[in-house]
Amino acid sequence: MIVLSKIDYGIYIYGNSPKTTLKYLKSPYHQAARRSICAFPTSPIKNILAEAGLPTIEERHRELISKLVVKLIFSKNSVIDKDIHQSIRHKSKKRIQSSISKIIDKAHEMELQFKKPRKILLSYPPWHIKPDSILMNLAHYNKANTSNSVYCSLFSDISSELKKDGWEFIFTDGSKSLSHTSFAVTSENGFILRIGSLPESTSIFTAEAFAILHALKITMENNGKFIICSDSISVLRAINNPNNNTDLISSIRNKIAMMPKKIKLMWTPGHVNIRGNEEADKAANSAKEAPVFQFNAFTKQDLKTRINKNLKTLQQTEWSLYHHHYKKVNPTKSPPKYPTNLPKRKITNFVRLRLGHISTTHQHLLTRNNHPICVTCNTTLNISHILENCQISKPIMDSVFKNLSIYDTLKNPNSKNIENVNKFIETLKLTL
Ligand SMILES: [Zn+2]
Repeated sequence: MIVLSKIDYGIYIYGNSPKTTLKYLKSPYHQAARRSICAFPTSPIKNILAEAGLPTIEERHRELISKLVVKLIFSKNSVIDKDIHQSIRHKSKKRIQSSISKIIDKAHEMELQFKKPRKILLSYPPWHIKPDSILMNLAHYNKANTSNSVYCSLFSDISSELKKDGWEFIFTDGSKSLSHTSFAVTSENGFILRIGSLPESTSIFTAEAFAILHALKITMENNGKFIICSDSISVLRAINNPNNNTDLISSIRNKIAMMPKKIKLMWTPGHVNIRGNEEADKAANSAKEAPVFQFNAFTKQDLKTRINKNLKTLQQTEWSLYHHHYKKVNPTKSPPKYPTNLPKRKITNFVRLRLGHISTTHQHLLTRNNHPICVTCNTTLNISHILENCQISKPIMDSVFKNLSIYDTLKNPNSKNIENVNKFIETLKLTL
C-alpha cells in the first residue's frame, strides 16, 4: 500500500517519462507485489500482478489519463481551458507529449470534442420555479394500487381542465436497451416532433432529461402554451433538487423558471395506456431501427461509465491474447479473495501452485543447475507435467480431489480447496 500510494501520486507527470527512467520505479514496485503474495522469485511479473489484483505501471497511467478526460471535458476552470485550447491549436506533436495533449488524444480517440465552455448567464435556483410549474398531481396516487383506468380518467380530467385554458400537451420518453439509447418527443396523437439516438453508454436518466430539454426547445420555437409530460419522476425531482447543478438539469430548470406562463412540466405514469405517453414510448423504441440523428449528449456519470467499460474491454482483450499455465486458473484476470482464517503457509502454497512457479520446477534457474527430470516418466519436470500427465501425481490427485480437476480446484480459493491442495502437495512431497 505504501509503495502504491507513492506511485499513484504524480503518475500523471512521470508516467510520460521514457521507459529507461520508468525502469527505476518498476523494480521496487514489482518486488513489493511479489513479496506481498509470497510468489516464487522466478514467477512472471504479469502473473504476479494479476494475482495481486494490481495494474502495471503503464496500465495505471493509462487508467488515470482516461479518467482525467472526464475532468477536462467538464472543466469550468478558465486557466485549464486556455491550456487545452492552446494544446489543440499546436499541430506539430512534441516527441514527448504532455499530459494534457495525451488526454486530448485520448478524448479524440473516443470521438469527444472539447467545446468552448458556454457560459450560462442566468442560472435560476430551484426555488425560483413556481410551485404549479411542475404538476405532480398524479404522483400522489400509489402506483401499486391504482389501476390503469383510474390513472387514465384522472389524466383526462386534469388535461381537459387545462385544455380549456389553452394549454397544449406534448409527451417525451427515453428508451434504453443493451445496445441502444434513444429519446422521442411527440404530440398527444403520436405525431413525432423530435427523435434521436444517444451514445450507447448514456443512462436512461440522461435520455429522459434530454427529451425534456428538446421538448422545451420546441415549445420555445412555437406560439402557445405547452405542458410537457414525462414519465420520469427522477428527472422531475432532480429539477427541484438544489444540489443537482449538472448542465442538463440546470438548463431545463432555467427555461422553466424563465417562462412560467408558457411552459409547465407534468408527471404521467408510464405504461398505463395514457395515449400520448404510449405514442412517445413507441417512437423512442422505434429509434433503434430507424435512421435517426445521433446526438452526442452525456453527463459526467455517463462518460465515467463509458471510460470504465472501455478500459475493461481493453484489459480483457490483452488478457485473452496471453498464453500461460496461469491463465487456466485465472481466465478472467480477476484477483482471488482468500479466506482469512488459514495459516499463511497454506495460502502461499496454493498461490505458488496457481502461478506455476515452484521450487521443484524452477529452483535450477536460481542455482544455475540443469533442468530437473521426472525419473518415473523420464521427461522434463515442469508444472503442467505434474498437474496433467505425471504417473506419480495422477493417483494422488484422484484420491484427494475426487471428481474435481486440479485446475477447477485452483480456480476457487475456498478453505476446502486450499486444504486439499496442501494435502496433495504433502503427499507428493513437492517443495514449494
Ligand atoms: Zn512424472
